[in-house]
Amino acid sequence: DDMDVDTIWMDGEFVDWDDAQIHVLTHGLHYGSGVFEGVRCYDTEQGPAIFRWDEHLDRFYDSAKPYDMDIEFSREELTDATHELIERQNLQSCYIRPIAFYGYNTLGVSPQDCPTRVAIACWPWGTYLGEDALENGVDVMVSSWRKHASSQIPTNAKTTGLYVNSMLAGEEARRNGYVEAIVLNKEGNVAEGPGENLFLVRDDAIYTPGLAESILDGITRQTVIELAEEAGYEVHEESAISRGELYTADELFFTGSAAEVTPIKTVDDVTIGAGERGPITEELQSRFFEVVERRTDDHDEWFTYI
Ligand code: PMP
Repeated sequence: DDMDVDTIWMDGEFVDWDDAQIHVLTHGLHYGSGVFEGVRCYDTEQGPAIFRWDEHLDRFYDSAKPYDMDIEFSREELTDATHELIERQNLQSCYIRPIAFYGYNTLGVSPQDCPTRVAIACWPWGTYLGEDALENGVDVMVSSWRKHASSQIPTNAKTTGLYVNSMLAGEEARRNGYVEAIVLNKEGNVAEGPGENLFLVRDDAIYTPGLAESILDGITRQTVIELAEEAGYEVHEESAISRGELYTADELFFTGSAAEVTPIKTVDDVTIGAGERGPITEELQSRFFEVVERRTDDHDEWFTYI
């Protein structure tokens, strides 16, 4: 089967999927000391194209910095490994997951003598919140869990341990019949989704929580800001958004490498706008897909072709 996904790159070697294993006393398992990325490779007329690989690599190395973690592989080595994984497995489109984490040593909290392990896996992955979500939007709830403040843990570093907060918020939402959560920060302002940034549209202007609101500096967020500005919209990218403003927004949508551009149709059962994908969301979403599927020559600098 030429679509078989059977290989993972680990610490410089290609290994069989089944053999890509680690010890149960791995530091990263016990203390959440890992950093990772989530990247999409799109199926385009020019073949598979990785979206904003350089920016994801930048964030990968930056995420490791607060933990004094030394990712010993160069950008070129990680890039070559990823290209080979896609080629070998004949993937036309896929999700790419690079991860670096502290490995096994004595299991003290200090990772000083732990090796830094690095791996990359690629596999086919469809729409994150379901096919219907992109067209009709999702029902979300404001989580009772708050985001950790950036004074408690660096929220701009994409750290494995941070995602227990995302899991709590997302599962609370799903237990209550919603598709996804919106998480407020410690100040009570809107931060982001468990794995998405959030945008608000009001009176034809676009707002998104600023980097000081304890959010991840999303690459899709940066992309949508740029596309919106090019389309002539006024984008307020350093906004502080109160919970109440969610309910009165004209439109709301999520962005993320996995979630792409997903409209939000209700928050806490309150209908947002007309309760369907709004016109500005639709415009930006179709522009986003036009770009990532390479149905335009614009922004070719964002793509690495395999
Ligand atoms: N916030 C969080 C908490 C996330 O996990 C993600 C997904 N990486 C995002 C925002 C969106 O970031 P990006 O657009 O870079 O995928």
